[in-house]
Amino acid sequence: MFHYFDNAATTQVRPEAAQAALEAMTQQWGNPSSVYQFGGRAAALVKDCRRDVAQALGCQLEEVYFTSCGTESDNWAIRSGVELNRRKGRHIITTAIEHAAVLEPCRELERQGWEVTYLTPDKQGQIDPAQVEAALREDTMLVSMMLVNNELGTILPVKETARAIQKSGCPALLHCDGVQGFLKVPFTPKELGVDLLSISGHKIHAPKGIGALYVKKGLKLPPLIRGGGQESGLRSGTEATGQIAALAAAARLGRATMEADLKHMARLREETAARLTQQVPGLKVLVEHGAPHILPVTMPGYKSEVVVRYLSDRGVFLSSGSACHKGKPSHVFAALKLPKPELDGALRISFSADTSQEDVDALVQALAAAKQELFPTMS
Ligand code: PLP
Repeated sequence: MFHYFDNAATTQVRPEAAQAALEAMTQQWGNPSSVYQFGGRAAALVKDCRRDVAQALGCQLEEVYFTSCGTESDNWAIRSGVELNRRKGRHIITTAIEHAAVLEPCRELERQGWEVTYLTPDKQGQIDPAQVEAALREDTMLVSMMLVNNELGTILPVKETARAIQKSGCPALLHCDGVQGFLKVPFTPKELGVDLLSISGHKIHAPKGIGALYVKKGLKLPPLIRGGGQESGLRSGTEATGQIAALAAAARLGRATMEADLKHMARLREETAARLTQQVPGLKVLVEHGAPHILPVTMPGYKSEVVVRYLSDRGVFLSSGSACHKGKPSHVFAALKLPKPELDGALRISFSADTSQEDVDALVQALAAAKQELFPTMS
């Protein structure tokens, strides 16, 4: 028995999603490109799944392209997004708190001569739309802004950014890393005004190894992966029918229960924040208002890795920052310019629809015990 509070890192696969994958892999296991009937059935399955994902996203099925993960979707959007307009300019705008899947391709483009502006957040992890307006230039070709930050849970002003781009008249495309926002905050790509939007399966109770990129209809995005011409020639590679079926099942279920799930997570987030501030002296909530599944807190003076290990020994699992950082200080928490003791003690608590009241009780108890039993490491 354990209590899992690391749903921003990954989520448990829904049995329905696993069942859909099993059926696709053991029954409809043909190659969707094969012309005979058995291949056609696999192609029909992929089409049905694309429709389900499109419905959950609130877009048309022709606008959904399956990829291998959120990272691939982000890389594709950025690398190919700038390719589209390369003759018009070489300036990109993004934020300092994006996931590495966005920051790394941006850094690579910088090495190739592109200029990148990294917008920095305020103390609550928020970007002011005025910063975007001020950074936009005639030669800005791409703006990449995440919808929900994976460590802070802040909801970024993507819609306002789309408006600013439109107002400025510059030809920039707008990409949104929607990996932590999909099924966690209500939106459609059209409402946001984005051209490209990335999602990932394993954050919504589908397996790892599947993602998708929304590409606005009419946008001639060049492919990142070339080959046999699958995904309308934009993303080659034999379709991963099992993962695609699981993603569709998880998206369908997630969409059906979204309203109730969001309420549940928001209630747990609020209760956890209130109880932890009351029962763990010195603990501070870092972001008051954000997406319902992420609660960043800090225990100033304590080393978060020590707290994470203490909790882990008691069957409570949470993260000291994004799981992708593996022990290195998080660039996201660092961007908040917190005093060092607050930075060192930062923890990310993340919920899912499956998180229970008993889980929250166990977390509060364990953190209160950590506070009493562990020694602060003043530095
Ligand atoms: N973008 C954000 C905001 C994420 O949180 C993650 C995963 O942690 C990714 C992108 C990468 O997604 P994937 O793990 O599917 O490559």
